[in-house]
Amino acid sequence: FGTAATALEEPLKPPVEVKYRQLLINGQFVDAASGKTFPTLDPRTGDLIAHVAEGDAEDVDRAVKAARKAFDEGPWPKMTAYERSCVMFRFADLVEKHNDEIAALETWDNGKPYEQACLVEVPMAVRLIRYYAGWADKIHGLTVPADGPYHVQTLHEPVGVAGQIIPWNFPLLMFAWKILPALATGNAIVLKTAEQTPLSALYAAKLAHEAGLPPGVLNIVSGFGPTAGAAIAGHMDIDKLAFTGSTATGQRVMELAAKSNLKTVTLELGGKSPFIVCEDADVDQAAELAHFALFFNQGQCCCAGSRTFVHESIHDEFVEKAKARCISRIVGDPFKKGVEQGPQIDQEQFNKIMGYIKSGKESGATLVTGGERIGTKGFYIMPTIFSDVQDGMPIATDEIFGPVQSIIKFKSLDEVIKRANASQYGLAAGVFTKNLDTANTLTRALRVGTVWINCFDTFDAAIPFGGYKMSGQGREKGIYSLQNYLQVKAVVTPLYNAAW
Ligand code: ADP
Repeated sequence: FGTAATALEEPLKPPVEVKYRQLLINGQFVDAASGKTFPTLDPRTGDLIAHVAEGDAEDVDRAVKAARKAFDEGPWPKMTAYERSCVMFRFADLVEKHNDEIAALETWDNGKPYEQACLVEVPMAVRLIRYYAGWADKIHGLTVPADGPYHVQTLHEPVGVAGQIIPWNFPLLMFAWKILPALATGNAIVLKTAEQTPLSALYAAKLAHEAGLPPGVLNIVSGFGPTAGAAIAGHMDIDKLAFTGSTATGQRVMELAAKSNLKTVTLELGGKSPFIVCEDADVDQAAELAHFALFFNQGQCCCAGSRTFVHESIHDEFVEKAKARCISRIVGDPFKKGVEQGPQIDQEQFNKIMGYIKSGKESGATLVTGGERIGTKGFYIMPTIFSDVQDGMPIATDEIFGPVQSIIKFKSLDEVIKRANASQYGLAAGVFTKNLDTANTLTRALRVGTVWINCFDTFDAAIPFGGYKMSGQGREKGIYSLQNYLQVKAVVTPLYNAAW
């Protein structure tokens, strides 16, 4: 960990200033009604970045009123679809123009490598904005063949005001996944960012307004889950809730939605995704891809390939290669060039991950490499591997959300299918094989929302993403996400001259 240590000794100065730290309601930056603020911290050091306005129920209410007015009185849903599309394309241009600044803000607030934020994540958000800008004027209803003498058609109308709650692991991308399909279909939005990472969404939302988004269409309430988040989930005047976060919180918000006004709910929740390395695999390539599947984004991905199933015939060789790759992983200040892994998001997640590492050691799994924190400041953890992991161990069943790979041996396809499916989660799976029959069999058998064959974490704007089982409900991205924000109205007109 020489590189990591060097990087930690000379942390870079934050490269950007924080321009926006208030709530964004009705197109204006405003303080919270209570006047309260909360600190957002730098995961590299745990030091303060900025105090941000702390929204609560009263602020959510103000935001909902603004959104309601923007939706009911327009102009957003009443603009032509082409005009809305043009605003969204301009928004994409502005995000692209400010790519590096947004990436720096993202790294500062979240701890992810700047190179990744800059070269991958912000450009992915831009691509997603353009993808949905393209959809705005292509929302079609149907003409329906009814039995009687009727002309029947369906209108696809916006749901109204969407409440959206997002997590901290991909602050800008989650913001984009949520708001774009809602905007393309003509809805107004009240969005709560995660309390750990409020900054990039405020910046991007300001750009959306510069692009011509009318006031009230996109409101951002920074704040905490049990206060601002719960106020959104339980609000009587919000028509639809979209949530990404943990399964436990997903259950909570769904209950609030049901108990209030039965708003429709889509959920993108936790996972414990299998990454299955079959016996015919090229072990070098498999170890590299399995490494990426788990360690990308400091292991903080809901779809992380966190159960690495490896066929017994190549198991020992795989473990050696996985270990070598882990040792060469460059951990350090995420603003430094070449750094692959930055700090975890905060003290709470750091403690949770270290707890799982302890549990792995105590449960009898073999610690292959890592297992310790790096440095004494910030939330850096060594890339860690356990082998000899058994299905029932907490490190094999629970979402760790950190840089901890659990390698599990298997003997046959039928066996690995059963074991891979024996999870409350069903978000994604990776399959590594050259054999088409094996790939097809696993693809059909795995009860998950995404199967990546010989690849992982491919997240094009058009590819739907979401979970089976307790990993969620509904799909985001692609055409599927549009349905989440549309009502279907049937229109029935009698045909008086049925002869024609
Ligand atoms: P994590 O453990 O990854 O932080 P959470 O599910 O707790 O996952 O957080 C995801 C999002 O849900 C965050 O924006 C958080 O503030 C919000 N949240 C947490 N608790 C609640 C709650 N009780 N009601 C509504 N939102 C919540």
